[in-house]
Amino acid sequence: MSGIDDLPPLREVIAAHGLAAKKSLGQNFLFDLNLTSRIARTSGALEGVTVIEVGPGPGGLTRALLANGAKRVVAVERDERCLAALADIAAHYPGRLDVISGDALETDWPSVLQPDETVRVVANLPYNVGTVLLTRWIETEPWPPFYESLTLMFQREVAERIVADPEDRANYGRLSVLCNWRCETRIAFDVSPSAFTPPPKVTSSVVRLIPRAEPLPCSGRDLSAVTAAAFGQRRKMLRQSLKPLGVDAAALLDAAGIEPTARAETVPVEGFVALANAWAALRG
Ligand code: SAM
Repeated sequence: MSGIDDLPPLREVIAAHGLAAKKSLGQNFLFDLNLTSRIARTSGALEGVTVIEVGPGPGGLTRALLANGAKRVVAVERDERCLAALADIAAHYPGRLDVISGDALETDWPSVLQPDETVRVVANLPYNVGTVLLTRWIETEPWPPFYESLTLMFQREVAERIVADPEDRANYGRLSVLCNWRCETRIAFDVSPSAFTPPPKVTSSVVRLIPRAEPLPCSGRDLSAVTAAAFGQRRKMLRQSLKPLGVDAAALLDAAGIEPTARAETVPVEGFVALANAWAALRG
């Protein structure tokens, strides 16, 4: 018994199924079901909610999501060694856990959902694919997206980049602009390395992202390209760093109402949206 359900403690699950953590799959497992319940509850009350979980592993967070009332969990796991342990959880919660054996980077999310489901994403992400997945969820179309919120574990350093604004110069960058353009972002709480097996080198943080109903209008692709150019050479003035965009950088900045001598790290999200729209207009 484990405290939140009648399933065996996770250390026993790991031993029974031979789930030694693999670094190549970003495997740092959480065994404390009180902690995984805290993560699950950070996404709000789960009754009636379908949760997408990336990388359930042996199922610590999956169990917490189900024990805390999620109507259904759709869990995508790349490591086939974990499937037997996840099948035990599915049997314990009949009809509520659907495990997809595969790569989250290749999963078409809307196709695994049913119409009219209330969907949240809750995951202790593998560090090697975390920001790619986040960027795709932020750039997804149409908007508002298929999810009501994202509750995600990242290394603290990545979490700080996600929530940063221009006042936090060291962390403000492309990820901050993209995330805060379309979502309200905040760090919910930190998790110490000792909570994981094996422990990572750095502290982690749970981040919450809530989609804005009406983000400033612009194309995500254009915003992505403009911020990539601007922050690619973040110490340079924008009239220099925006040259790779292939239009007259001075005219672009003028159209967006931004000083040509400004640097990327001083421009707020609205400025980048103006740049993305001006770039689209200049390209015709
Ligand atoms: N959720 C578990 C927990 O909290 O203990 C495990 C989290 S561990 C940080 C990341 C999990 O993601 C591992 O189980 C790993 O096998 C899985 N994973 C890694 N890359 C993946 C991918 N591309 N698609 C799906 N799962 C992946």
